[in-house]
Amino acid sequence: MEKYLKELENCTLCEWKCGANRLEGETGVCRVTLPEVASCTLHPAPPQSYTIFLAGCNYKCLNCQNWTISQYPDNKEKLRYEKIRGYVEPKELAEECLRNLNSLQGKRIGADRIFFSGGEPTINLPYIEKIVEEARKIDPSVKVNFDTNGFLTQRSLKRVLDFTTSITYDIKAYHDEVHRAITGAPAEPVLRNAEYIAKNAKDKLWEYRVLVIPKVNEDEIKPLSEFLASIHKSLQVCFLAFRPNFVLENHPGASRELMERCVEIANQAGLDNAYWSGTPGLSGEVLTIEDKVEDKYEIEEAKRAASYAYKAGCITHPRSCGNCGSNQDCDVKRYIPLDEESREIMRLIRFVKDLSEENQ
Ligand code: SF4
Ligand code: SF4
Repeated sequence: MEKYLKELENCTLCEWKCGANRLEGETGVCRVTLPEVASCTLHPAPPQSYTIFLAGCNYKCLNCQNWTISQYPDNKEKLRYEKIRGYVEPKELAEECLRNLNSLQGKRIGADRIFFSGGEPTINLPYIEKIVEEARKIDPSVKVNFDTNGFLTQRSLKRVLDFTTSITYDIKAYHDEVHRAITGAPAEPVLRNAEYIAKNAKDKLWEYRVLVIPKVNEDEIKPLSEFLASIHKSLQVCFLAFRPNFVLENHPGASRELMERCVEIANQAGLDNAYWSGTPGLSGEVLTIEDKVEDKYEIEEAKRAASYAYKAGCITHPRSCGNCGSNQDCDVKRYIPLDEESREIMRLIRFVKDLSEENQ
């Protein structure tokens, strides 16, 4: 066993603090034992980088666009065609990163940093630290970005801040029950860590990223903006337009009007650096709220998100994956959405249905 992985004997890297002995094959909420690389690629989206996607996540988000990676290894039986690179020696990966950053293609897109993403990279923090250590032996000035959902312990966050140049930080919701309904995890540690970064490491913050899902978290934009503005008005906040994905595969995407309204709301709350990106306007259908979860949540949008989770097989409401008896055998993690072709047929059927309703 590699010495730097020793702390996986009693894993408390993220706020679930499972204490699993991952070296002996025990798993916590993330279900990951040893670090596995899903894939690596030069990435032209800012901050331009050589991106390492690490398999596995401590959340079970309904909207995940990287669900093949994040819900690994539970979906691997059903995803036989998906390739996971697996464990790669840190030194080998560090050399690969620098080779790509210094390549013609890397220079052409302006890639200037190693970008750790996933899944959630926190669950493999000791591995990442080792890769960065090896990379900086070759080039001490190499930059590093950490892309996180914010659900890490304060100790882990401080370790991350020690080696990162920049942080991209996702926040899914302000209210706890909406956050739980979407992700399966509480909001408090995420807001706490967001505040810590803003107050203690603002220079490292690339941006907070808020995925805007119509009728699921759009009412969260105002309180979230007010929360961030109360810390610092100049914080960078990027609103991303939701595209139908994973469990929310049939839910409508965010419209352009909604995205523009988010920026307006953020400006009114006092944020000076709010903007949006993504592809708006994808069609879909909003799910009706399920009787089975209605009385478990107070907020309408939480009820709707939880209804999607319930339909996908989530048995614990309010959602709380850390305390759920099914967290080692979870149907949400095994959820497989329709492929693109079948989804296109569904869109066509919906279009024809809408048209015939209009003509009645
Ligand atoms: S969910 Fe978090 S604390 Fe639990 S095993 Fe995974 S990384 Fe460790
Ligand atoms: S069934 Fe349990 S582990 Fe799975 S998503 Fe629901 S709360 Fe989380």
